[in-house]
Amino acid sequence: MNFVKELMKKGSALIHGDVKYEDESNQFCIMLRVCQIILIFYFLLFELLTFVFWPEGNKLLVLPWILILIGGFWTTYQFRTRTVFHIFSFFTIVWIWLFVRYFGWDVGAQHYLFPLLVVSFFATYDNRRGKTIYTLFLLAFRLYLFVYLSNRPPIYPLESRTQTSFQILNMLTLFSILFYVCWTFSNTNQEAEKKLAYYNKRLKHEAQTDQLTGLLNRRSMIEFLEKRTSGNSEEFLSIAIGDIDFFKRVNDTRGHNCGDEVLRRIASLFIEYMEGRGMVCRWGGEEFCLAFSENGDIARSYVDELRMRVQDMEITDPSTGEIFHVTMTFGVEEYDFSASMTELIRRADDKLYAGKDRGRNCTIY
Ligand code: GH3
Ligand code: MG
Ligand code: MG
Repeated sequence: MNFVKELMKKGSALIHGDVKYEDESNQFCIMLRVCQIILIFYFLLFELLTFVFWPEGNKLLVLPWILILIGGFWTTYQFRTRTVFHIFSFFTIVWIWLFVRYFGWDVGAQHYLFPLLVVSFFATYDNRRGKTIYTLFLLAFRLYLFVYLSNRPPIYPLESRTQTSFQILNMLTLFSILFYVCWTFSNTNQEAEKKLAYYNKRLKHEAQTDQLTGLLNRRSMIEFLEKRTSGNSEEFLSIAIGDIDFFKRVNDTRGHNCGDEVLRRIASLFIEYMEGRGMVCRWGGEEFCLAFSENGDIARSYVDELRMRVQDMEITDPSTGEIFHVTMTFGVEEYDFSASMTELIRRADDKLYAGKDRGRNCTIY
């Protein structure tokens, strides 16, 4: 049992061993190795069938091919995948030709050109020209086999029983190779696509949000406002820009960490409050922008309620444990369906600064 395990481990290491060149993907090489192993088994079974069904036939006919495949396996550790594939391809074409010539068209060795084509697409050529040339080459070879060999009597005509057994073996081997190659590549592609979709989503999220607070960022709000002010929606739109009062003082007296904590707490309060009411973003520094699909009066009442909640919020200084409060000033502006988005923002901003002048902790509309 242990011996089998050990053997499997060694076999797996041999198949998955690294390629020689670091700029090449291991996967294609592994694919060629597995195809070669499948073919080694194919030839062994072919030999077995020959012994069973055709004892008077030429024994050990397949031995050279097994040796060539073992040599091919070795080349995967020595050369570039493309070179390995060319060698593999050359010998495969030669044995296909010999098999068709010796055993006849009906045995079906010519079908091995198909897996060759599939593998070449995935494993070897990264440009369209290479793929096209190779496809045309295989097509020409297949046509040649068909025209010159399909009607010729084989050198070793087989009994129908022998022929059937060879045909079945060929079918099984072909399906195994194609199944393996397609399985590998469909999995790789699907995994790559999933990863890509995940990274796209993450990137999009990162591009839209502010890292410190988790709120949407200025860019997202501008995109939203641009859409709302350029479309012909008849819905109300009001915005508010809010700024924390004397925030610099919090940073100066309690430290930057505590300042960050204030921003995070206010952000969570905004997220919770704006749920179902509108959109909120971190506009910059210690400024926030809110958007409501309401008229200015309703927006103002919402903002005032929010301002009270900010004022009542107990914030704990992370370094001293002390509890303190902050206040905010807001400027509210209703969109009049004619001004530009920049104008709308400028008006809200002007009102915010009027609020600062008026002594802060207030909402100006
Ligand atoms: P005012 O009431 O007039 O708004 O006074 P203020 O002190 O809030 O205004 P000022 O614009 O002078 O200060 C804003 C401060 O916000 C300055 C800057 O260091 C701080 N700030 C900006 N972004 C961050 C941040 O991400 N974290 C922390 N801790 N502070 C920040
Ligand atoms: Mg400010
Ligand atoms: Mg401020």
